[in-house]
Amino acid sequence: MRPIESAPPVVAVDVGGTSVKAGVVAADGTVSRLTRVATPPPGLDAQPVVDAVVAVVEKLTAADSGGPAALGLVVPGIVDEQAGLAVAAENLGWRDVPLRDLVARRLDCPVVLGHDVRAGGLAEHRVGACRGARDSVFLPVGTGIAAALVLDGRLFAGAGYAGEIGHVDVGTGLPCACGGRGCLETVASAAAVARRYTAATGRPVDGSRDVAALVRAGEPAAVAVWDEALDALARGLAMLTGIVAPEIIAVGGGFGEAADLVVDPLGERLAQRLTFHRVPRVVPAELGDLAGCVGAGLLAWELIS
Ligand SMILES: [Zn+2]
Repeated sequence: MRPIESAPPVVAVDVGGTSVKAGVVAADGTVSRLTRVATPPPGLDAQPVVDAVVAVVEKLTAADSGGPAALGLVVPGIVDEQAGLAVAAENLGWRDVPLRDLVARRLDCPVVLGHDVRAGGLAEHRVGACRGARDSVFLPVGTGIAAALVLDGRLFAGAGYAGEIGHVDVGTGLPCACGGRGCLETVASAAAVARRYTAATGRPVDGSRDVAALVRAGEPAAVAVWDEALDALARGLAMLTGIVAPEIIAVGGGFGEAADLVVDPLGERLAQRLTFHRVPRVVPAELGDLAGCVGAGLLAWELIS
């Protein structure tokens, strides 16, 4: 038997809007050799991203005797995991890119394509904040809001369209970038919180973190914006709870970083909206911005086990 250290590594790559994170992921989800490179600028042609993924994988495994045992690749947008297709990614400008096969052709190893948030949900479910639950939701609240649903112990993808809780109508009446109106994202994303604070006060802020600091200081306009965001989130999560009844909801992303201002009050507001339902525990996510990478690695392990 070969010694463990010479076994080809399982590699994970998480392509984000601004950076590409890559690392070697062990079967227990531990990440090593973590590296980050800038995401190529958006364009209809996915070739620069394919090149960047291949380059980062080759760099990561340069000291190994061969290539990786498997690659887990996750991207944002609408992803059809089964078909290996990046159907749409607003930030990256793609449409219907057969990303899995494009990368697999260049790397001599099995490749699995996943969705960044769903992969993060899988990671939180297996090795993070949702360990031990059968039905869990991972809710990263950042520039946008999406949910990853694990139901009966399995990720639920809806061919790439499930979990778009950011675009359910929570009654705000505000127009949304998606073309809809009243979407949760119009008031409750980290970006919306910062934007709405500036709109209300004329004072620019550098993201939701600044607004969180103002909330701590008791600044009334910040408190009002924060309050609206939490109420809208609680409303969205109450709908979700009525439909899929998760045992646990792990909140992550930029907004979730202010855990004491988000997670506990959100849990309370959600509980107030429910009656006979199973009340989910609302907890902070545990894997931070590595969730997608860990999940990509776990997907790759599934592919070869
Ligand atoms: Zn929308």
